[in-house]
Amino acid sequence: KANRKFHPEDTVVTVGDAKIGGGNFSVIAGPCSVESEEQIVAVAEDVQRSGAALMRGGAFKPRTSPYSFQGMGTEGLDLLLKAKAATGMPIVTEIMSPKYCQLFEDKVDVIQVGARNMQNFDLLKEVGKLSKPVLLKRGLSNSYEEWIMSAEYIMSEGNENVILCERGIRTFETYTRNTLDVSAIPAVKKMSHLPVIVDPSHSAGMYWMVEPLALAAVAAGADGLIIEVHNDPANAKCDGQQSLTPERFDNLMGKVSALVDLV
Ligand code: PEP
Ligand code: MN
Repeated sequence: KANRKFHPEDTVVTVGDAKIGGGNFSVIAGPCSVESEEQIVAVAEDVQRSGAALMRGGAFKPRTSPYSFQGMGTEGLDLLLKAKAATGMPIVTEIMSPKYCQLFEDKVDVIQVGARNMQNFDLLKEVGKLSKPVLLKRGLSNSYEEWIMSAEYIMSEGNENVILCERGIRTFETYTRNTLDVSAIPAVKKMSHLPVIVDPSHSAGMYWMVEPLALAAVAAGADGLIIEVHNDPANAKCDGQQSLTPERFDNLMGKVSALVDLV
């Protein structure tokens, strides 16, 4: 179902007023984690003003250490709904357990499956039964074939609205958090009709490298971007070092829209 051979036209995923794929470009922006009502509403308003079409914010966080901030959980989902009420922007947030499928179906607009769960096949099958689009991140060390097969797991259950997201992979290089695989954009778009977006934030791991990677992704034909933005990066509970301030995000969006028109 994900293979371009049997489905030559590009899939366009529609979320509210936003479209992703088939020549439609959309930006998703917001903090790594939801931290408070003030924070999520302020950042949502800021990124919307700069042209983001959807907002992100993690409520359930897949942290390397069990002692790190784990996210606000279900309370975080309710704060995302407050930011949605304030802006009208659809919500993108990560699911980590099949036990929350019904809650996400009720409250969330795009269900993110994170890199660490790309091959959690039970989770993929369960989100495949939901009606909400799924943003499927590429696993830390997974091939294009494996990534597309994970999309197939979701689609085989009936949910064909899958957005693929390249977010950098593990390589021998340690300077960056991950290595953005720019080749994934043209390659996976040739193999599959699904939209491919890019997360330059988790690729770079450093705020100052987000802009060049975002522009490289647009130039390579990405269908969208997902970018971490925080109103106080120095005090962020998660991923502050890679988060753009609303001002930096606004500046980036000016360059992105000029480049999108060119590509
Ligand atoms: C995230 O988007 O905050 C996240 C945890 O991403 P990834 O799964 O790509 O590491
Ligand atoms: Mn993050």
